Amino acid sequence: MITPGETIGILGGGQLGRMLAMAAAQLGYRAHVYAPEADSIAAEVCGDFTCAGWYDGEALAKFAKACAVVTYEFENVPVPPLAALGATAVLPGLNALEIAQDRVSEKRFAEKLGGCPAKWAQIDGPGDLDVALDSVGTPGILKTCRDGYDGKGQWRIASPADFKALDLPAKPLVYEALVDFACEFSVILVRGADGDVRFWDSAENVHKGGILARSTVPGSALVLAQLGEARDLAANTAEALDYVGVLTLEFFATGQGPVFNEMAPRVHNSGHWTIEGAVTSQFENHIRAICGLPLGDTSLAAKQVDMRNVIGDAAEDWAAILGDPANHLHLYGKAAVRPGRKMGHVTRLTL
Ligand code: AMP
Repeated sequence: MITPGETIGILGGGQLGRMLAMAAAQLGYRAHVYAPEADSIAAEVCGDFTCAGWYDGEALAKFAKACAVVTYEFENVPVPPLAALGATAVLPGLNALEIAQDRVSEKRFAEKLGGCPAKWAQIDGPGDLDVALDSVGTPGILKTCRDGYDGKGQWRIASPADFKALDLPAKPLVYEALVDFACEFSVILVRGADGDVRFWDSAENVHKGGILARSTVPGSALVLAQLGEARDLAANTAEALDYVGVLTLEFFATGQGPVFNEMAPRVHNSGHWTIEGAVTSQFENHIRAICGLPLGDTSLAAKQVDMRNVIGDAAEDWAAILGDPANHLHLYGKAAVRPGRKMGHVTRLTL
């Protein structure tokens, strides 16, 4: 067990790291962020910050020595250099990180456990295009296997002509059938070091331009009807990986049941509502899990919870948002406003 007062290392310096560090502080831990960017919004709320590159073995080793446990808030941290962390435990384990970094391995992993992704085909070079198109058909979505997030590295394909006209990046790609879904939802669970698994209520998620816009809890009757199957896949994934911490799986709710989209081995944007809307937030339970503490209650703390992301220049409306006393505003302290950038979120409870 890692006791309050010890230091938790966080790889990655974004808003998830910031909210994890705040939860760690609440439980009396120190947090130490490691990130390559000097303007880390997580480091602003931490006692210690190492600003160094992912391939700087010396800095990673020194960071690990200062931490009782290391976690990550960003799933694109390169895995091989993390060997420099030595004996310091990394939780969730690197097996989860490796699988989630690659869309093909995450689909294969989910399929092995009985999950159903959209029909897909791997594209390792121009020679694979025709086969992929024949087996998946159109419409579809072409995605880079690695490093994509918030709709980046994705191309919608309406017809075979679109597919052939694309100037494809020289990277491994995956081509997926476009799923005709009624809505999107996510399953977020926490698994403790002792194997104890708890789920939060599943939010129904609305995306705009590939970016999460809104999460509402509880989800619709359709989401609730598909939850059993989706939760089984999430729990089996956690079990198979001997996972410790918060794990998220994203699904499309369809007439044929839940279609697996992707997994994130971390706290998730669609779980930000848990800060005010659940008895224990995803951030607090992640810290509890990786420190070997008992998990907190994940029950809903209100009849309904709505979380809306504050994206781009919507952050300028902060005063108006605060003008409604029912709003809980979270701003992440990002200096530069850019279109599509997540600047914060607003949560409202219906008691
Ligand atoms: P992703 O990065 O895979 O989570 O994709 C971002 C968003 O694009 C998803 O949340 C969906 O709204 C949409 N999307 C991704 N893949 C598909 C698909 N196969 N069919 C329909 N919509 C998709």
